[in-house]
Amino acid sequence: MKEKRLAVVNEALCAACGACEEACPRKAIRVVHGVTARVDAGRCVGCGRCASFCPADNIRMEARA
Ligand code: SF4
Ligand code: SF4
Repeated sequence: MKEKRLAVVNEALCAACGACEEACPRKAIRVVHGVTARVDAGRCVGCGRCASFCPADNIRMEARA
């Protein structure tokens, strides 16, 4: 089944705290080079857990094309 939603990080505002990485059940979001979180679209199942854990409210759930 094709996933309907995708997590999208605002990289410019990401504090690289890692809370989203710990929250993700799929290891689909990771902090890269200690700078910003980045989502692997191929692994993300759109559950929204990362977005609810981000203390900076920096992850949007977007509809997939
Ligand atoms: S929406 Fe779910 S699967 Fe996708 S990156 Fe966030 S926690 Fe992981
Ligand atoms: S939880 Fe939010 S601020 Fe922290 S690394 Fe993830 S996207 Fe960045």
